[in-house]
Amino acid sequence: MQPLQLGRMRIHKVHEMDSPVPLLSQLPGATREDMLRLMRWYDQPDEIFADPEASFMTFSVHSWVIELDGQTILIDTCCGNHKDRLVPEVSGLETRYLENLRAAGFAPEDIDIVMCTHLHFDHVGWNTRLDNGKWVPTFPNARYVFGRKDYEYFIANPEGEEVHAQAFLDSIVPVMEAGQGEIVEADFCAYREIGDGIWLEPAFGHSPGCCTVNAKADGPPALFWGDVIHHPLMLIRHDLPFAFDSDGKVACDVRKATLERAAEEGVLCFPAHFRRTSAGHVLRDGDAFRYEFVGS
Ligand SMILES: [Zn+2]
Repeated sequence: MQPLQLGRMRIHKVHEMDSPVPLLSQLPGATREDMLRLMRWYDQPDEIFADPEASFMTFSVHSWVIELDGQTILIDTCCGNHKDRLVPEVSGLETRYLENLRAAGFAPEDIDIVMCTHLHFDHVGWNTRLDNGKWVPTFPNARYVFGRKDYEYFIANPEGEEVHAQAFLDSIVPVMEAGQGEIVEADFCAYREIGDGIWLEPAFGHSPGCCTVNAKADGPPALFWGDVIHHPLMLIRHDLPFAFDSDGKVACDVRKATLERAAEEGVLCFPAHFRRTSAGHVLRDGDAFRYEFVGS
């Protein structure tokens, strides 16, 4: 994606990988009618078919970089290289993420703040890199911001969250030990002030403490919604819990409220897992929503 300018902010996308998974394994309950409705505005012939059983959700894994007033802020850090994971598709990766970051114009030393919307393995991985057998912070000059609720949840190594617990040990703990981590509340302001700067808002449900990152600087508002919505189909079926929601009912309520706000306020959205440019606007479409991609 070409960088987008929103007032004083410039926003870049840094791609790590694409990951296709059977659609019904992620969003059980999706129907043929839902697929046909999606295909009216999301024509993706390698992924989306009328038959939900034959369809995939292909997740893009990427970071966003905000440049604002000389500050460089990295949002979500993907899966990371060389990490040992219970999920084979993301274990022992060797992607060109850091090369992609450089191609966007940034060396690791340039990042001032790292913000993780939540502490799932595909949002914290590049927090650290392997250096002589040891995990060290990838971004040596950054302060890293972690939400308190997710931090306190995952540090307890809860049952059923083993893959995220692995990520906590190799991607969060070394950052804290290096003195670069900061545990913050869900309304934390990273730059300037709420409404004019960069700040968190609570969006609990997909994970116990997941947040959105909001940003505004003399231009339209930007919303980095993390995993509140994973795939365009969820603009139609925002009522169906996603397979990895920690509280499906609450996550669906947050999903709907986020879509309503995005549609009403003309927010420019920056999803964590949409393909193409990812960025776009949410529009109302009868009793549901649709997405209009922005950028090239
Ligand atoms: Zn994710």
